[in-house]
Amino acid sequence: MITALNAAELREAIAPGKSVGLVPTMGALHAGHVSLLSRARAENDVVVMSLFVNPTQFNDPDDFDKYPRDLDRDRRTAEEAGVDIVFAPEAQTMYPTGFDTVVTVRALSSVLEGASRPGHFAGVCTVVAKLLNAVAPTRAYFGQKDYQQLQVINRMTRDLNMPVEIVSCPIVREADGLAMSSRNVRLSEDDRKAAPVLSKALAYVQDIADTGVHDAYQLRAWLAQTIEVEALAKLDYAVIVDPCDLKEVDTIDHGAVALVAAAFGSVRLIDNRILRPASGPEVRR
Ligand code: AMP
Repeated sequence: MITALNAAELREAIAPGKSVGLVPTMGALHAGHVSLLSRARAENDVVVMSLFVNPTQFNDPDDFDKYPRDLDRDRRTAEEAGVDIVFAPEAQTMYPTGFDTVVTVRALSSVLEGASRPGHFAGVCTVVAKLLNAVAPTRAYFGQKDYQQLQVINRMTRDLNMPVEIVSCPIVREADGLAMSSRNVRLSEDDRKAAPVLSKALAYVQDIADTGVHDAYQLRAWLAQTIEVEALAKLDYAVIVDPCDLKEVDTIDHGAVALVAAAFGSVRLIDNRILRPASGPEVRR
C-alpha cells in the first residue's frame, strides 16, 4: 500500500488505463467504511482511499477538534481491506494560501443538515470536487448513512459533467441498530444506550407503513414522537421526503425516505431509512 501526500504523488502511483475506485473518508475507520472499501475492491483495478479531516465542512470548531484521529490504525485497516493507495494530504496541501473557490449545490444544501450546519455542504462539495479531480476515479463510493450528502454529490457530479459513477452503499449498523459512525465513540455510556432510538423509530415507521398508513404527516408524527420519548435525545429534525429532491411528501406511495437528526449530549447523530409502501418493492434510486 502506498501513501500519497499530494496530487503529484497520486498521479505517479496510479497506473494509466486501470479502473479506479475512490472511497473518500475522514478516517477513524469502522465497519461502515470497510464495506465501502470492500465494494470498491471488488469493482475496480485500483482502490484509492482518501483520508482527510476536512476543516471546511465543520461548522463547529469543537466538533473538528474532537473528531477522532488515528492515522496508523486507519492505515492498517485500509491495508487489510485491500486499499492500494491512501491519499492523506495536509490541510495546507488541500487549501494553500490564496485558495478561493467554493462549489455549492444550492437547493439541496439549504435544508436539513445544511440548515443545521451552515456551510457544511459547500465544504463537502469543494473537497469532494478536489478529490475527484486529483484521483480521476472511475467510481466513487459513498454511504447511504449520509443520505443528503449522497444526493448533493449526485447533483454536483451531474451538474458539472464530472465523469464518475457515484455508487451508493447500504448503512452498516451495530447489533442494536445504531448506525456506525466515527462520532459514536464520543457518546457517554448512557447516551450510547439511548442512541439506538433513532434506528428503532425509523423501523417503527416502516412497521406502521406496512399496516397501510401511507400518509406522510401521520408517519412523521410517529417518527418524532418515538424519538422524543427518549429523554436523552434532543431531536433536531424528523422528516419524510422525496428520495431525490428531499422535499417533504404527502404520501409515501411514490417512494420516500425518512431522515432524522438528534443530539445525545454534545454528539449529533443522523440516520435514515428508505420507506417502501406495504405492497410495493423498496424504492432505490
Ligand atoms: P466519513 O469518514 O464519516 O466522512 O465517512 C466516509 C464515508 O463512509 C461516507 O460516504 C459515509 O457515508 C460512509 N459511512 C459512514 N458511516 C457509514 C455506515 N455506518 N454505513 C455505511 N457507510 C458509512
